[in-house]
Amino acid sequence: MIEHEQISMDVVFVGAGPANLAAALHLKSEIIKHDELIEKGLKQGKAIGDLEIAIVEKGSFVGAHILSGAVMDPKAIRELMPDFLAQGCPVDTVVTDDAAWYLTEKRCLVAPITPPPLKNKGKYIVSLSNICEWLGEKCEEAGINIFPEFPAAEVLYDENDAVIGVRTGDKGIDKEGKRKPNFEPGVDLLAKVTVLGEGSRGSLAKQLVARLGLDQGKEEQVFSLGVKELWEVPSGNFPEGMVVHTLGFPSDTRTYGGGWIYGLKNNVVSIGYVTGLDYEDPMIDPHAEFQKFKTHPKVAEILAGGKMIKYGAKSINTSGYYTMPKLFADGVLIVGDSASFLNGQRIKGIHTAMKSGMLAAETIVGAFEHDDFSSRTLRHYEEKVNLSWIYDELHPVRNFHAAFQKGRWSALINTGLQFLTKGLAWGFMPHEHHVPGYERMQKLDDGVSNGKRYADLKFDKELTFDKVTDVFYGAVAHDEDQPPHLHVLDTEICATRCAEEYGNPCQRFCPAAVYEMEDSAETGRKELKVNFSNCVHCKTCDIADPYQIINWVTPEGGGGPNYKGM
Ligand SMILES: Cc1cc2nc3c(=O)[nH]c(=O)nc-3n(C[C@H](O)[C@H](O)[C@H](O)COP(=O)(O)OP(=O)(O)OC[C@H]3O[C@@H](n4cnc5c(N)ncnc54)[C@H](O)[C@@H]3O)c2cc1C
Repeated sequence: MIEHEQISMDVVFVGAGPANLAAALHLKSEIIKHDELIEKGLKQGKAIGDLEIAIVEKGSFVGAHILSGAVMDPKAIRELMPDFLAQGCPVDTVVTDDAAWYLTEKRCLVAPITPPPLKNKGKYIVSLSNICEWLGEKCEEAGINIFPEFPAAEVLYDENDAVIGVRTGDKGIDKEGKRKPNFEPGVDLLAKVTVLGEGSRGSLAKQLVARLGLDQGKEEQVFSLGVKELWEVPSGNFPEGMVVHTLGFPSDTRTYGGGWIYGLKNNVVSIGYVTGLDYEDPMIDPHAEFQKFKTHPKVAEILAGGKMIKYGAKSINTSGYYTMPKLFADGVLIVGDSASFLNGQRIKGIHTAMKSGMLAAETIVGAFEHDDFSSRTLRHYEEKVNLSWIYDELHPVRNFHAAFQKGRWSALINTGLQFLTKGLAWGFMPHEHHVPGYERMQKLDDGVSNGKRYADLKFDKELTFDKVTDVFYGAVAHDEDQPPHLHVLDTEICATRCAEEYGNPCQRFCPAAVYEMEDSAETGRKELKVNFSNCVHCKTCDIADPYQIINWVTPEGGGGPNYKGM
């Protein structure tokens, strides 16, 4: 039996992403505002005083596990901190031009007009990792406690299923489950309100939603995987401030996918490719899709003579409004990507994540004012969301991703119609239900795959890289002497049904070469080998496995990628 020390806080935020960092900062300033108004007699009620606020983060520092494109819509950060630029927010570049390209195998058709959702002039190209690191410093200056290397491993509940905090992961357990000399038990961080902002496919949010049925009456979330590299290119290859989005090659018309190329300062280019994790062909490999994207003549031209400097991959919650769970329960709120706040049409979620955090903060002020941390008070968060610009932005595009499940062309026609009618046309059309990706993947004998998709793809280590090389550029590290954090619940399925039916797609959908089928002399067949130390924490395996038998849990704190500058 492990004894866990209990530490009482007022509010605990799980995850130091834009959602929770904005939430914690806003909470601090809203309390100050509230108390000043009470003191001056301009508001009725009671003062709240200084709250103990903690943010726990599994990465080795704030920003270590943050990966984004990223073009940031400054709408939310401007509300949070109107003088964010004067305060030193490390935006990289202002977007000065944008374009949409349709790629065929060899050609590039430049759209005469950039579709409005992809217009970005005046917004900021950023490293979201750097922005979060900076927001973390702002939080610390404001007196918020930040604990990097502290994964929240479990939600704590009272006897009535109200959330009362989280348990952080134990440190110093070896791969056999025994205590090492550096053993430190996890801590029970007790809180009146716990806010889950773990990003896409949060591991605690998944547990919470299932246990409390917060997804009842909602559609299941659908995800994509973004695979990204940072490149240094020769001067003149790609202009600073330029934002390009692409459609077409190498995706087929049944598979959701698209690329981006953003020009940062000092001839650095952010390049990446998003593949819907609701693809039908089990032979699809999102990392290989990205590598193939770079071989397109128009794209390869930009990278020619350059060098890759950083790699990463992360899932994106692309299904939006219809797939948002209930956002509150007793003692708990869910913010940001964990609650599907991303606008899939724009692939933008930084501003909506931050705004959701700020609305959560305003709700928490009300909860402390009334000393009521139950759903009765916390439900105001969902009301605030539905009265905010988040609703105005997400509701009109609520069917965007589901339409893509019918194929690219019908989706584009739908999108055009929705744009012209500001989403009203959805009202006259059959409701498009989101089908989870693991249900859409077809079996090998269904004939969707010809097995030749990557026949021409070679990894030359100049333009194209294999997964293991890329993982090296993600600076990924986990102590190998710990229990694996990727729980495959039934490996017999891997060696038998999955091998026959889908050809073990985990070997392809994982962008970090974590899963391998290896010949076993003992059983005389191929068995699953899990190289968990390669894991980039993208959560794809937890999402895409067709049998849903992979459970991603938090590894020992501090392990994982280092996305500084990404
Ligand atoms: C490839 C890619 C490109 C994108 N491009 C853009 C773009 O150009 N513009 C845009 O606006 N948006 C973009 N997005 C989306 C945007 O990055 C997200 O919407 C946004 O980061 C969500 O913020 P969040 O705070 O909800 O989660 P995240 O940014 O994912 O942060 C979550 C944090 O919580 C931590 N965490 C998770 N679980 C735990 C746990 N149990 N214990 C402790 N810590 C935990 C993680 O380590 C992480 O630091 C992109 C996303 C991806 C993946």
